[in-house]
Amino acid sequence: MSSDREIRRIGWIGTGIMGAPMCGHLLDAGYEAKVFNRTRAKAEPLFAKGAEWADSPREASESVDAVFSIVGFPEDVRQVYFGDDGILSGAGEGAIVIDMTTTEPSLAIEIAEKAAAKGASAVDAPVSGGDVGARNAALSIMVGGEEGAVKAVMPLFEVMGKQIVHQGPAGSGQHTKMCNQIVIAGTMIGVSESLLYAYKAGLDPATVLESIGGGAAACWSLDNYLPRMIRRDFAPGFIVEHYIKDLGIAVAEAERMGLDLPGLALAKSLYLKLEELGHGRSGTHALILALEELSGYSPE
Ligand code: NAP
Repeated sequence: MSSDREIRRIGWIGTGIMGAPMCGHLLDAGYEAKVFNRTRAKAEPLFAKGAEWADSPREASESVDAVFSIVGFPEDVRQVYFGDDGILSGAGEGAIVIDMTTTEPSLAIEIAEKAAAKGASAVDAPVSGGDVGARNAALSIMVGGEEGAVKAVMPLFEVMGKQIVHQGPAGSGQHTKMCNQIVIAGTMIGVSESLLYAYKAGLDPATVLESIGGGAAACWSLDNYLPRMIRRDFAPGFIVEHYIKDLGIAVAEAERMGLDLPGLALAKSLYLKLEELGHGRSGTHALILALEELSGYSPE
């Protein structure tokens, strides 16, 4: 794939919390899109912006310059790429396929190899910045893949994100996303425990945030999730089931590299506890509910 090829017409698979606003920004920027999602109703708001419906990932991938996907789990990515009606059965020679789902680095490499066998190129480009970042076109996009393909997709990444870094060959974007998720694992425990402590100490948590959000503890999770925790608004955001998927990938990759990460293992066990409590489809900031259960203390 040469880097001077201009991308005008795209396929887009996955119009959930992240995919719908991301594709919407590309439509607003003038790109033409053929869209597929498992549940058609979730793609409908994009039709008003000019998107065309496709009946399968394959149809969304035919006669386009590039195909984007952002679905849920690795098994969804496999189905969407390798299925009979999948992206790789539709994408033509010279096309670029870009998976923005958070998935396994090894799967990103497999997609790249299978795409190359068809004369296409693959880029792995998972994101961070949450639902807010997707809506505000302010995502951090972590990119893996061959230089020419990455260059060609860069103008489209710039429409969806603010921080776009090419990390290396296929799989590097997904490995970088695991580094991101490992930071968040510890951070979310800290944010939740800090809030419980503030309640128990009789402090007003919103006032506490004014102080600690401006010091060395300042971070995205504190700014974006602590207010939702205080309101007891546990709607996603980022669902617990997806985060458990990410923590599982990070643990498996660390094990494969012979690396013991006890903080990551603790976070995974706490999120599994939260899922057991019936919060698999809640936002990840519901972690405080698992810590309330374990500590026997709740501010409610
Ligand atoms: P989501 O709201 O569940 O969206 C996923 C979309 O993909 C859904 O609309 C789903 O269809 C569709 N889908 C799943 N499997 C499919 C298949 N086989 N064929 C066609 N469509 C399929 O999830 P999300 O929050 O947007 O997250 C998407 C990915 O981004 C996940 O890997 C997640 O880990 C990652 N991520 C999320 C966030 C966040 O804050 N939300 C941040 C960074 C990264 P249905 O409508 O039928 O369910």
